[in-house]
Amino acid sequence: MVFLKRPLNTSMRAQEFAPNKAKFVEMFAKFLPLAMHHIGLKRLPKIVFEKNIGDVHQPTFGMYVNGEHTLYVALANRHPNDILRTIAHELTHFKQDTHNELNDDSGTTGSPEENEANAVAGIVMRHFNKKYPEYLAQKPIIAESKQFPQEAAYPGNIGIMELTKFFQQATPEQKQMFKELLAHQDKKSAWKMVQRVLGVKLHPSVVSQ
Ligand SMILES: [Zn+2]
Repeated sequence: MVFLKRPLNTSMRAQEFAPNKAKFVEMFAKFLPLAMHHIGLKRLPKIVFEKNIGDVHQPTFGMYVNGEHTLYVALANRHPNDILRTIAHELTHFKQDTHNELNDDSGTTGSPEENEANAVAGIVMRHFNKKYPEYLAQKPIIAESKQFPQEAAYPGNIGIMELTKFFQQATPEQKQMFKELLAHQDKKSAWKMVQRVLGVKLHPSVVSQ
């Protein structure tokens, strides 16, 4: 969906966090560069992860607010694959925005921009699922459970916000190195790299994983 301004609401309390956090963080780390590649993005918009977005009158899983150049994604009670599909869809709206292709009707069902976002998201997910079929079995992120992945569970831990920042700030060489580390299952070095680029100190339990 596309909104000119952000609809009122939303509930963002760091109350409780989901159980599949580590897996989702890893999944997201592999998804983001793949999505940027297939959508054709050199940079990312601001991305905000929340448990729920929209309001009771207009609940939605994701939205790109072109007045803010910000993408909002809902995480609660959703299958990780669906969350990533939403991100791919909204990133396509970001690309449309950078090409000045969004207008007041872009958010309407059946608009060319909406159709393109759906089609591109479908392509991105086909590539992702083919490359990483093991993630298709990932369980939904449950709102009531302990660890929600957008926030670090403790100071210095790595979450999807840190990864988003990494992909916003890292040089192409650093991103390439990060992808290679993950491809070789060297998460420890990959997370250390995020730490170096962002200048944050990760909790010892993270770097020793
Ligand atoms: Zn849309």
